Amino acid sequence: MIELDGATGEGGGQILRTALTLSMITGQAFHIADIRANRAKPGLMRQHLMAVQAAAQVSDAVVTHAQVGSTELTFAPEKIKAGDYQFAIGTAGSCTLVLQTLLLALSHADGPSTIRISGGTHNPMAPPAQFLQRAYCRMLAAMGVEVDISLVRSGFYPAGGGVVVASVEPCAQMWQIALMEPGPCRASYAEAIVAGIPGSVGERELAGVGASMGWGEPQLLMQGLPGEQGPGNALLVTLEHEHVTEVFCAIGEKTVRAELVAKKVVDEARAFMVSGAAVGEHLADQLLLPMALAGGGRFTAASVSQHAITNAEVIARFLPVDIAFSQEGAGTGRHVISVTGTRKSASI
Ligand code: ATP
Repeated sequence: MIELDGATGEGGGQILRTALTLSMITGQAFHIADIRANRAKPGLMRQHLMAVQAAAQVSDAVVTHAQVGSTELTFAPEKIKAGDYQFAIGTAGSCTLVLQTLLLALSHADGPSTIRISGGTHNPMAPPAQFLQRAYCRMLAAMGVEVDISLVRSGFYPAGGGVVVASVEPCAQMWQIALMEPGPCRASYAEAIVAGIPGSVGERELAGVGASMGWGEPQLLMQGLPGEQGPGNALLVTLEHEHVTEVFCAIGEKTVRAELVAKKVVDEARAFMVSGAAVGEHLADQLLLPMALAGGGRFTAASVSQHAITNAEVIARFLPVDIAFSQEGAGTGRHVISVTGTRKSASI
């Protein structure tokens, strides 16, 4: 049984989600203590509990202490089963984080699967659905993992009610990739998503992005959703490069001015563009797991978060890989991340 400390490094929910995915794939049971110890409300919240329950269903796992608020649990999986799964988080907890827990596990099953999850699709501190569709799935496809994600309905905090549906094909062998440059930019655009709030909020956000990025109307897209999907607002900036697609997102809040929401997204997108790195901060921490499963890979990132370092530590507890972070020569804002493993890890 692998012993994990949920207080290590970042001390957040990703330690648990990465452990669930790799436990299912490798068949190794784990015990985790001090779950989300560094968060304001430690222990399992609905989203994390849903990830545990969903992983248990997919792999017939025996689980102890799976309840909201629990600060420890054990998870002992059997075989991963392909199937058609439906999960309801029941709050605005992130659908995308639950989905990410399952996708790579189900790609190791012996048949195709579908997963339908309801909850939040645009949450602070989680990938928006479009990030998974455009950025994350494109990377998985480059590694040979076929996943298709549909955003059926958007869901925002606090109402939730969003729905995402994913289909996953079995993947016999993942490929290693090296992603050192983003390549030329093929398309760039911003989308303001508004549901049940005045359209002027989205227009001001788009005006802010347009002015800062020098973008004209064809790149500034308003997406008005039916009022019952709100209240909610998200501002997305998508940069589609030859080798990678990046999606930056800020969630609008009642007390935050539209111009500030625009500034937040622009600052993030700019930091990525100026760095010349292949991926931004979030894609960087999310690429580690698939690369480790592929037995290796390399990429450049605009920054390395505590989140990524913690994720690397958890991955190395389950898989025979070494994950190294280094800063490129002075004057560049790029970090090089290398995942080195043996073929053994790729064939698990
Ligand atoms: P907690 O730590 O409270 O449990 P959590 O369960 O939401 O929070 P974190 O450990 O914070 O989990 O992990 C959040 C994940 O969401 C990380 O992989 C991070 O890169 C990703 N993420 C956060 N914001 C974005 C964003 N704007 N775009 C893409 N990915 C994001």
